[in-house]
Amino acid sequence: MDKLSLDAFRMEGVNGPYMRLSGVYAVGLGDDLVTIHSQQVRAICLARLLTQNAAHKRDLCIIGGGIAGLTLSLELLRHDWTDITIVERLPDLLGVQNGCDTRWVHPHIIDWPDKGSEEKVSTIGTLDWTASTASNVTLAIETAWTTEVGYLTKKHTKGRPPRKLSVHVGVTHLRARQLKEGVEIEWIRDSRVRPMGFHGSDVLACDTKTFSHVVLATGYGTESQSTHSYWRNEAYGQLHIDGVQKGYVVSGLGDGAISDLLRLSIRNFRHDRAIDNIVQLKELRDELRQIKCEVFASQSDLLSALTVSASKNKPIGLWWKELFKLIQDLRREDTKVILYHNSNDGFSNAFNRSPASFLNKLLLFVLYKCGVFQYVDKSQCCDANAAALIYGIPCENVIKRHGADRRSTIVRIFGGSPDDFTIKQQSYEECKNFLNSQVAKPTTDQPEKPNDANGEAVSQFLQPPDIPKMK
Ligand SMILES: Cc1cc2nc3c(=O)[nH]c(=O)nc-3n(C[C@H](O)[C@H](O)[C@H](O)COP(=O)(O)OP(=O)(O)OC[C@H]3O[C@@H](n4cnc5c(N)ncnc54)[C@H](O)[C@@H]3O)c2cc1C
Repeated sequence: MDKLSLDAFRMEGVNGPYMRLSGVYAVGLGDDLVTIHSQQVRAICLARLLTQNAAHKRDLCIIGGGIAGLTLSLELLRHDWTDITIVERLPDLLGVQNGCDTRWVHPHIIDWPDKGSEEKVSTIGTLDWTASTASNVTLAIETAWTTEVGYLTKKHTKGRPPRKLSVHVGVTHLRARQLKEGVEIEWIRDSRVRPMGFHGSDVLACDTKTFSHVVLATGYGTESQSTHSYWRNEAYGQLHIDGVQKGYVVSGLGDGAISDLLRLSIRNFRHDRAIDNIVQLKELRDELRQIKCEVFASQSDLLSALTVSASKNKPIGLWWKELFKLIQDLRREDTKVILYHNSNDGFSNAFNRSPASFLNKLLLFVLYKCGVFQYVDKSQCCDANAAALIYGIPCENVIKRHGADRRSTIVRIFGGSPDDFTIKQQSYEECKNFLNSQVAKPTTDQPEKPNDANGEAVSQFLQPPDIPKMK
């Protein structure tokens, strides 16, 4: 396996003026499987690689104040970067997930049935968190970040340079330009949005500044064509309080679509709860691990592999049978769900080509075997709205989970066209190996971390940020 290098994060221009692009990096913009935890791992790797490679010029602009941006900024300050700027378009940091109480986030469950995937705590050593609602997780991350960043920017220790973090939220205009001496960032912010005050930071209503490094931590961007953004609160996971059965169209076959299909179809569904409580899944774990490994290695047909497994003799076949029976029993009676996909060569092909995680595809397979949803594709209806019309489903019950166009964000920042840039993948596995290969050594003086040893995330989140005690 190749060793992870800074090149994996480098954004390159392939056409015209963008050929000269230099000092520009991206976190997770080219990867299929992006999670809060994996973005944090990527951000820490980038901070360490930048530190190893940038001996003198320690100024950097992070575009995007989400989880990746915050993790990166903290890790760089810990490594004595002297001048960090964050520019964020929303009026708050972590604004994508903040206040979202209807999405449960878990650091590892997406990797199930791999070893360690049921571990509820993210323990990378930077902004650690415990599985909870998205809003609890972002509150914990922001509280820990504010505390430690406040401390690092205030404290002047002998032998260490003063560190500065300027945070500009509510940025309404942003443009980047490659210059000989670095990357120029021009921005205008809505001055009604309160500035975030860190010691020595300067937050103006507008500015133009040249940086030696710029990192795009702009995430998924806004989901295309969706009126119900994935991270906004909704009631799909709850029974209809009026008792009336309602129809839904879920469009897409990625992790977002399958998650919502599961919540609309199964009572009280949550991935980690299903893994914790469904005995048959535990019994099938070794079998499923093997299937995941083999299908991943050979890029073969997952639907067939699962079908073969389900038709095996006892005990495997029996566990599958019981699992199907249980899902039938847990099926919601108050919904009727149509799964729509924008393809026309059948469910099996669409299933095998889906970019979703193994866990979600496994659960989709179970729903499919139980006949829980109706499948409609392009051969029957030109799009999800047309499907809703035919089945008498109101348009507000059409849930489109088509992902987001991450390249258009780059174009909005640099100009040009999407084909002018190459964005590379930073595989989660390679990043984890890189971090594991590093000898753990203290990077800087840090305040004591809040104690979350009991795994009770919420009790910690509800407290105001403490003034840190020094070690
Ligand atoms: C449908 C869907 C479902 C998902 N489900 C899960 C899940 O269950 N669990 C999980 O862990 N992950 C999930 N993810 C992935 C999740 O979005 C990421 O884990 C997480 O948001 C990554 O953090 P980030 O900082 O990279 O990106 P984001 O959280 O998107 O943060 C990027 C930040 O950059 C800002 N920004 C964007 N463009 C600009 C610009 N031009 N100028 C300034 N600021 C800008 C944004 O406002 C935002 O604050 C899901 C994603 C999608 C699309």
